[in-house]
Amino acid sequence: MTPRPWRSVVLAVVVVIGVLGVGGAATGLWIELAGNDATRFQGLTEVVPWDEALVAPTHLAQPSATPAAEPAPAPEPAFDLAQHSTSDPASPWVIVNKQHPIAQDHEPADLVDVGRARVRAVAAPDVTAMVDAAQQAGVRLVVRSGYRSYVEQAGARAEIEARRGFAHAERYSARPGFSEHQTGLAVDFDSGSDPACNLQTCFARTAEGVWLAQHGWEFGFVVRYTEQNTAVTGYAPEGWHLRWVGRDLTAWMHEQGTGSLEEALGVAGGAEYPG
Ligand SMILES: [Zn+2]
Repeated sequence: MTPRPWRSVVLAVVVVIGVLGVGGAATGLWIELAGNDATRFQGLTEVVPWDEALVAPTHLAQPSATPAAEPAPAPEPAFDLAQHSTSDPASPWVIVNKQHPIAQDHEPADLVDVGRARVRAVAAPDVTAMVDAAQQAGVRLVVRSGYRSYVEQAGARAEIEARRGFAHAERYSARPGFSEHQTGLAVDFDSGSDPACNLQTCFARTAEGVWLAQHGWEFGFVVRYTEQNTAVTGYAPEGWHLRWVGRDLTAWMHEQGTGSLEEALGVAGGAEYPG
């Protein structure tokens, strides 16, 4: 048989075309896949541009209105500081100080005995409750004095003035007609643990004085004259002298951190007597 070289050429060409065809098809498939991936990725990029999405997601539908919030609780009504008179001597909130005297002939109609003293009936249950609560805590409060009439105050003031001098008396003892004791709502306590401090500045540091300063408000009492309120009240500190005004007001004062009745009720005070 005579070799026919053209056949080899034709075969070679066919093989080459075949290889190129398979390769080309594979290449086209790869390009198509890559193109699809690229298109898909590009599509995502267009829908959610990362930087704008973080800053302002304008592609999201905006809510048409703020969702309804929980209704706010009604504000608590402000404590009514005008519910009692500060000038009527029968009012639980009457203020008697060097600027506001009490009528010479005023005597409360409802005085009752508590220990050695007389106080108004409206305050008596809280005096008893306070003394009992202190006793439960091992603190021995002794009721020393409560109501004093104008005449009795004149005697007490004259005595302290004779013993300690006018200037001292002015700082610690009211002139007759200007004493809170005449309201029947002020109570002086003695210390059962340290009687040497009775009616002395050191009373405030006795177990009884410390307890009164911490717990008096729970029973409607304020320590009327303190180191902090001397300029307002016009009296030197008297840790033993408590004034009953009722638990509502003392709770409010405690919450507010109010340091004196004058400040709580907006009444003038000070160390000077009028005239
Ligand atoms: Zn007193």
